[in-house]
Amino acid sequence: MPWTSHQYNQHFAAELARLKGDGRYRTFAVLERLCGEFPYALMHGPEGAKKVVVWCSNDYLGMGQHPSVLQAMKEAVETWGAGAGGTRNIGGTAWIHTKLEQELAAWHGKQTALLFQSGYAANETTLATLIRLMPGCAVFSDVGNHASMIAGMRGYQHKHIFAHNDGTDLERLLAATDAAKPKLIACESVYSMDGSIAPLPAIADLARKYGALTYLDEVHAVGLYGPTGAGVAEQMGVSDRFDVIEGTFGKAFGLAGGYIAGAATVIDAIRSHAPGFIFTTSMPPVVAAGALASLNVIKTAHDLRARQQRQAQRLREKLIAAGLPVLRCETHIVPLMIGGAHCCKGVSDWLFENAAIYVQPINYPTVPVGEERLRLTPSPLHTDAMIDELVDALDYLWTQQHLPRQMVA
Ligand code: PLP
Repeated sequence: MPWTSHQYNQHFAAELARLKGDGRYRTFAVLERLCGEFPYALMHGPEGAKKVVVWCSNDYLGMGQHPSVLQAMKEAVETWGAGAGGTRNIGGTAWIHTKLEQELAAWHGKQTALLFQSGYAANETTLATLIRLMPGCAVFSDVGNHASMIAGMRGYQHKHIFAHNDGTDLERLLAATDAAKPKLIACESVYSMDGSIAPLPAIADLARKYGALTYLDEVHAVGLYGPTGAGVAEQMGVSDRFDVIEGTFGKAFGLAGGYIAGAATVIDAIRSHAPGFIFTTSMPPVVAAGALASLNVIKTAHDLRARQQRQAQRLREKLIAAGLPVLRCETHIVPLMIGGAHCCKGVSDWLFENAAIYVQPINYPTVPVGEERLRLTPSPLHTDAMIDELVDALDYLWTQQHLPRQMVA
């Protein structure tokens, strides 16, 4: 018997019921970001809109409301209109795309860069294409790599997963692989769910020793680390030892879109072969103009970076002093470990209802089951008073609900 529409509906309803039963059903907070008032936003709920302090934004520096970015975008829309008009191949390569690519390449100390509609698209299509262009290539991927990198390697048979940030495990796998094979090591610099930083110099050393190409996702680091904000590789002085650097405009740039930067031949090969670049409408020029303006601010945004680090450190110290289960790390990301999807959502709901604070619960599959958390991202625009209010609210809730206060290493 062929399936009826009723059967299809029942099938998907059962799937959703399973998610809800596990506490993993995603509800989206409907926010109205208030230009000029970040990190405040209006959050729409059944009882109308309420002004909240947002503690989980990836607009890490508040660049989404920076006057230079807004001005550049206003001028761009007046000059060039709304969309790009096509794929890069068919009428959709704008002057501002090529200008932005040149600036990004120079910023990372690379020959060329290439824009994508998102960091996800950049990772997925670049990794899949690199693998396709190097038959028999052995791929080495950190177990904590983002879903977009995993998607680019999905189903690939010569894939080796190394323990998180573990150079010893990576070397074990490299040493066990045929020396004559092409190799590709893929990792991130800042891991966004645990706030850890990869041992980039050690990974670069291994790549040299075993003759591997290196692919580095700096999505959570561009704008935030290094003397000009070009990322952790710049900060550690190893940019030249990573063949492809991938970044996004969706986090510290305050916009949306992604890119890769590298040697002219590698980037040209991706430009010429990657379906996720070729067969899609290019980035609206207005977004590219905003990204270029953001880049120009970011290069010298030392004060914003310093204040962001200060606020992250301050929040971390206050949470630790209150005995709250913060995961120890050195970056701008402050994970508060809760464990249990229902409890994590309960804490998030309570903060919204009682303290006008919005922080999204992070559940499986973004993190493993049992490691559910709140991922706090203080920006330079979060004040000391906001930090105090957040910690006081959490401290009160932990006491009231007898939640565990054990520290997490
Ligand atoms: N890489 C990492 C490590 C990410 O965390 C994300 C998104 O959160 C992406 C890539 C995708 O970037 P985008 O949001 O620009 O698609």
